[in-house]
Amino acid sequence: MFEPLFLDSVLQEKIWGGKKLETVFGYPLTSEKTGEYWAISAHPHGVSTINNGEFKGMKLDELWKNHKELFGNAEGEVFPLLTKILDANDWLSVQVHPDDAYGKAHAGELGKTECWYILDAEPGSEIIYGHHAKTREELRNMIEAGRWDDLLTRVKVKTGDFFYVPSGTMHAIGSGILILETQQSSDTTYRVYDFDRVDDAGQARELHIEESIDVMKIPGTTEIVEEKVQQLGRSNLTTFVETEFFNVYKWEIQAPTDIETAADYSLVSIIEGRGTLEIEGQTWKIEKGNHFILPYQVNHVKVNGEFEAIVSTPGK
Ligand code: ZN
Repeated sequence: MFEPLFLDSVLQEKIWGGKKLETVFGYPLTSEKTGEYWAISAHPHGVSTINNGEFKGMKLDELWKNHKELFGNAEGEVFPLLTKILDANDWLSVQVHPDDAYGKAHAGELGKTECWYILDAEPGSEIIYGHHAKTREELRNMIEAGRWDDLLTRVKVKTGDFFYVPSGTMHAIGSGILILETQQSSDTTYRVYDFDRVDDAGQARELHIEESIDVMKIPGTTEIVEEKVQQLGRSNLTTFVETEFFNVYKWEIQAPTDIETAADYSLVSIIEGRGTLEIEGQTWKIEKGNHFILPYQVNHVKVNGEFEAIVSTPGK
């Protein structure tokens, strides 16, 4: 099949959400606290629907099960990737995710390694990325004493930054940040600290201190991602990470550009601008806010216009 699979997806209300998914991306909100758009997802908590071509109306999880040929006959019971856009109008909880072994044993699903591309950050915005405890005992003591300023590593962020967040990493997205997240298809989060917040009904969200201490990487240092940029005429293709879980790239398109897509399949999110996508002589319009999958049969595309995209492919 030589067509992209465009997707309609699900918005999620969150205590920390806002309105930018509509004001910036044009998705019609039903809540003033919309936190996430699960742009490319086959996870049961919010499955995308194909909105064009011969598979129009089919859910992505169904397509994965019944049309493996579109994904290079990839193994695995579940579509392994999930692309989200998050609007952090307030801090997300300080949290950590399990790896695959712990996730399967305790939550019956994949672990969660994730990564973030900062779409927009208000001046002074910060994330929590790593921690200062040297031993598991010290981690426990600092959590139990609520010594958050001593424990948590804060990092300033700006638009265009990229962060790799392997399972076991202490992290939180700060307020005023709009993020595109590429992650394993998992919804297992262990909350360490939620800033003592309560919802409109006065309820605090559940914490998962024991699980958090179990899965936390010690020491809590983080790695700096080395970006590699390849110039193709006036366009740039940036490689952020290539890992066992996923590979993530950015396309910055300024002119007609031929791109090879050697992966079994590619997830593409247009984050800025507009243009066209040409496959085997057929052309589609693409613009900011569109998300699509290039199936296995598509080995190269011609793109034109002025746009930016975040692209992910499955890891090896
Ligand atoms: Zn997370």
